[in-house]
Amino acid sequence: APAPATNFLRQRIEHDLETGAFAGRHFAGTPGDASHHAAGPLDEARVRTRFPPEPNGYLHIGHAKSICLNFGLARDYGGACHLRFDDTNPEKEELEYVNAIKEMVQWLGWSWGDNLYEASSYFDFMYQAAEALITAGHAYVDEQSAEEMRANRGDFGKPGINSPFRGRTPAENLARFREMRDGKHADGAMVLRAKIDMASPNINLRDPTLYRIKHAEHHATGNKWCIYPMYTYAHPIEDALERITHSICTLEFEDQRPFYDWLLNQLADLGLLARPLPQQIEFGRLNLNYVVTSKRKLRQLVEENHVSGWDDPRMPTLVGLRRRGFTPASLRAMVEATGASKQNAWIDDTVLDQALRADLEPQAPRAFAVLQPLRLKLTNYADVFGSADHREPCETAAHPHKPELGLRKFSLGPELWIEAEDFVEVPPKGYFRLYPPQRQPDGSLSPGNKVRLKAGYIIECTGAEKDADGKVTAVLATVIPDTKSGTPGADAVKVKGTIGWVGAHEAVAAEVRLYERLFAEPQPDAGGRDFIEFLNPHSLRVVQGFVEPSLAGATADQRWQFERHGYFVTDRVDHRADKPVFNKITGLKDSFAK
Ligand code: ATP
Ligand code: MG
Ligand code: MG
Repeated sequence: APAPATNFLRQRIEHDLETGAFAGRHFAGTPGDASHHAAGPLDEARVRTRFPPEPNGYLHIGHAKSICLNFGLARDYGGACHLRFDDTNPEKEELEYVNAIKEMVQWLGWSWGDNLYEASSYFDFMYQAAEALITAGHAYVDEQSAEEMRANRGDFGKPGINSPFRGRTPAENLARFREMRDGKHADGAMVLRAKIDMASPNINLRDPTLYRIKHAEHHATGNKWCIYPMYTYAHPIEDALERITHSICTLEFEDQRPFYDWLLNQLADLGLLARPLPQQIEFGRLNLNYVVTSKRKLRQLVEENHVSGWDDPRMPTLVGLRRRGFTPASLRAMVEATGASKQNAWIDDTVLDQALRADLEPQAPRAFAVLQPLRLKLTNYADVFGSADHREPCETAAHPHKPELGLRKFSLGPELWIEAEDFVEVPPKGYFRLYPPQRQPDGSLSPGNKVRLKAGYIIECTGAEKDADGKVTAVLATVIPDTKSGTPGADAVKVKGTIGWVGAHEAVAAEVRLYERLFAEPQPDAGGRDFIEFLNPHSLRVVQGFVEPSLAGATADQRWQFERHGYFVTDRVDHRADKPVFNKITGLKDSFAK
């Protein structure tokens, strides 16, 4: 495998490994039960990263970026990557999501080993750390209303105003905080805040909230707590307790880093955490054009039935991409190719498609599929082959460069299915497929066009059958004897066109779902617009087609290149042996019309 692209995260880790920046880390022996969460044996010099999803929705392509970065760095530097459910928020978190997240991390090819954690298991430690901060004069209970707090926070270039409750003694604060814990106050009545600096130019340091009251049941801790830590308080502690070395997050947390460092340093000074402490490092988000990735917006698409579910093959969720047919290897390659930078990146969906093609081209078996079927009748078939019941065996390589994949076998009969676009009554310039004899300016008829049935015979178009409305119902052609592919006579007749086909006697009827972009605009939710307006009305087209007989035994989640059409996968949900369903993953080339 090629060496992974170097980027600032790798440089930072390599530097830290060289200088021993996090050697000598150890778990300080903290109050409560937190010690059994301390990760593994005392392998202090290991790189430790984490992927910390909130179990409140399905993972999307942006999460794949974070997963592959964190697990990839741990793998490349002999470290460990933790899967941590950031379940500090009692609402909106469900077991369904926990299981789906685990499944997707594994599907992407990663393993967390023994390093599976739940942030809610640190609630005792977090609480005791809060009491220690109060006792040391670093936190206070504020009884201002939410509006007052917001108003007094100030703004950029405008310092905040100290809360009238800021001057309380530690003893008073401790008593109040315990009342909060004991359920003596209503939601919103008061909060615990860090006591830092209401005039700080960084608004995140203007006494941020650490705990709020929420009389809500938690899926893991039940009704034990009615106060819950804020994300900004909980996250650094989670990292420190798990001895994370590099806490990699997206750019919007950059302004939070001073608080991250402030908090962990206070707790280390108080003897609750050991140095060296984890370091937060930010990288640019991955954004994909023509989709939305906010969980709220994805949920709206599902709940308003714009898509069939979280795993609709048009969704940028990992379950959706999997169902669409994207391979884990292609998603990992896309993450690797887009690197890590200090800039949020907008990636075109074509980058994903290219990674998919690069993965599938060398391995996906080929097959004939007819997506807009038109009947073709070989009018001289019985004369050439002795009987209309004769089946002429044909074969071709399953893959042009992979002989080990063997041969595809099928047969010719008197009636075939061809693609409707492979026949025209009057050929435009440069059209080399089927058309009937054409009247010439001098009144004579030129012969109809000849094409090769791929891996079969050359045929000559003689006419077409039409219904009362003049619509073509069947193409008529004759077989030219002794022109079978792979036989000595194959080159005797020269043709410019080759077409795919499936014998009507053995064609497998299939539902084929043709997908285009879910949105017609590259950034449907830019500037606060209503993204629903930009849904692409043509994002799904279902056709009834035919595939070659070698696909009769297809099982779910198998991939092929349908010749001339692109890459397809059997749908993992709806495909049945007796009712095949194929999803189009992507075309053979980039095209704007996708
Ligand atoms: P949303 O904002 O839609 O709720 P989230 O970022 O809050 O998503 P989490 O479950 O909290 O979702 O995210 C888990 C991890 O995935 C975080 O470390 C987060 O930074 C990372 N992540 C989320 N979206 C992206 C993205 N678009 N690109 C890179 N990393 C991302
Ligand atoms: Mg979140
Ligand atoms: Mg977020």
